Amino acid sequence: MIKLIRIGDGMKAVEIIEKKRNNKELKYEEIEYMVNSYVKGKINDKTMSDFIWEVYYKSLSIKETQYLTDVMIKSGEVLDLSKIKMPIVDKHSTGGVGDKITLIVSPIVAAAGICVPKMSGRGLGLTGGTADKLESIDGYKLNLSKKAFIEQLNKIGCAVISQSEKMAVADKKIYALRNEIGAVDSIPLIASSIMSKKIASGSDIIVIDLKVGKGAFMKNIKDATSLAKTMIKIGKYYNKKVICTLSDMNAPLGLNIGNALEVKEAIDFFNNKYDKRLYDLSIYISALMISSAKNISLMSAKKLAINLVENGYAKSKFYSWIKYQGGNINKLKSKAKKLDVYSPKSGYINKIDSHKLSKLVFDLGAGRVKKSDSIDYGCGVVLNKTIGSKVYEGDLIGSVYYNKKLKNMDELLIDCFQIDKKKKRVKKIIIKTIK
Ligand code: URA
Repeated sequence: MIKLIRIGDGMKAVEIIEKKRNNKELKYEEIEYMVNSYVKGKINDKTMSDFIWEVYYKSLSIKETQYLTDVMIKSGEVLDLSKIKMPIVDKHSTGGVGDKITLIVSPIVAAAGICVPKMSGRGLGLTGGTADKLESIDGYKLNLSKKAFIEQLNKIGCAVISQSEKMAVADKKIYALRNEIGAVDSIPLIASSIMSKKIASGSDIIVIDLKVGKGAFMKNIKDATSLAKTMIKIGKYYNKKVICTLSDMNAPLGLNIGNALEVKEAIDFFNNKYDKRLYDLSIYISALMISSAKNISLMSAKKLAINLVENGYAKSKFYSWIKYQGGNINKLKSKAKKLDVYSPKSGYINKIDSHKLSKLVFDLGAGRVKKSDSIDYGCGVVLNKTIGSKVYEGDLIGSVYYNKKLKNMDELLIDCFQIDKKKKRVKKIIIKTIK
């Protein structure tokens, strides 16, 4: 039995919930009413959950999704970037296993004379957060004032700070509730949640790396395409150029998974030591950002991104950025013991289960259940072999870095690999781009 709630002008939450249940399109005022009443504590978690479940099962039209996005943007501050004298491009990833792309792409694009202002969240559940990765660098300041953020952007070209508590306030509360009740994987809810934060962050161009596969929210290309199209439509409504790349998350991104370990892999990248899939995606995302901001062809932008990595400009931008934000790149919070793990058989690695891998890294202590939980920056996994590699029995397959020992850690890592006699074709990391 749903409790009947009457507030203010007499509009009833229950009527709105029932309207959605009956598949009727909601008006702006009705969505605004639900969201704002929830933020103000006038309707409780139970009633909001009922509303979310109706949306989850009945979905939202594009108009309703735009309304929801708009209400969530208006629930908080919108960042004014008018004092920045460069083209501005933001980048977002829907969250992948081993995803350290922001650490690599931001300095490459900034080295091309483009401003990359990034606000990044902390990890929750199995998804890691760029904010946590950066916090594994001794001294790195995630909280900058608006003035300091803009100053750094004008001086260095990139900055990554923590997601502002004052932006898209309604999304914060609703996203937390969705996580709690298990209602995250709904296309209109994900689209409005991501876009409310991106639009409030003030950039005119937004490049979204939308992960598809086992270790991602979107398990298949069809759903990911639909999410991409929804976000692009929302962007148009605000005159924002949104570009979505669908990238494969059926294997982890790069070789290192875990906070400080991922920063180390970013450093390796700038020292020309990289995994091919990580390199391909980093260059491609950089090229998309550069080509849309400078209005040049993707091919020219790709050449420029490669040059900036090869001539060391991107590397020196990376070091200046971290230093400017207070970090000492030579001092990572990487304390951990190491357990080397060897292959139990010979063959080809045809699959690496990124979901199992992220669960292992989470159980080692790299992730958090609640926002207030502390995390272990040093633990994680480094793969010595990756998808497509040939291995022989007894080869080093990877290493587990730990401070808290788990039972059968070696077996848990081995269980992430599928080793077959015959080699399967390795899927390309970039699936498609939608504009
Ligand atoms: N990331 C977000 O910010 N929101 C979602 O709903 C899902 C992923």
